[in-house]
Amino acid sequence: MGGFSYKDIYIEDGRRVLEVNILPEKHCNFECIFCPIGRSQNKVDIQKSFDETGSSLIELENMIENTKAELIFINSKGEALVNDKIGDIVDFIKGKGLLVRLLSNGYLLGRDEYMKIANKCDEVVGELKVITEEDFQRIQRPIEGYTFVEYISNMVSFNKQYKGKFIFEITIINGYNDDEESIQKTKNVIKEISPDKIIVVRIEDERFKKKLGITDERFEEISNALLNI
Ligand code: SF4
Repeated sequence: MGGFSYKDIYIEDGRRVLEVNILPEKHCNFECIFCPIGRSQNKVDIQKSFDETGSSLIELENMIENTKAELIFINSKGEALVNDKIGDIVDFIKGKGLLVRLLSNGYLLGRDEYMKIANKCDEVVGELKVITEEDFQRIQRPIEGYTFVEYISNMVSFNKQYKGKFIFEITIINGYNDDEESIQKTKNVIKEISPDKIIVVRIEDERFKKKLGITDERFEEISNALLNI
């Protein structure tokens, strides 16, 4: 077995999508209180080498052949960009003539070395889960020195030069970004980033849903407000 793990293949917009996690354990530059992966000691934003990439690529090749995947979605246990082989992994998939979608929380997309890697992908997903500096620090607990302003400006700079499809995933969280003022601010961020597609989600994880989840009705209202600007 290699160091990657997979979800069952599914169809999205008529395409066969294979989701792959390229991190053996959680590595992220944030430590969100609601992280579905849990806690970790690996709060990093520089690349790290993981063993077994060679055998993992062979396994990936077999998975692609067996599942007849058309789009490979790199959705990892944390920030996939910190795997130092990510560039090679993307090249490997592109070399097979397949589409690549990369999920990132978005903070590192403004840094040159990571921007170059993300630029090779057909689709990049960036995220937004809070709307103030205070909440960013308090519930996303990023690496020291990170700021909310820089977070947004990193995604803005990335998308200004990106030729692929930038997907912006906004999570609505009870008590943090579900009030009218936050929705207005979120609309402004959307305008600044100018994504190709917006996805609005809410906290669904049973462990956090009671405190951080929102009602169906409110979710629908907010989704409509954000998707129709
Ligand atoms: S950005 Fe995602 S992976 Fe990283 S700590 Fe937050 S929820 Fe977990």
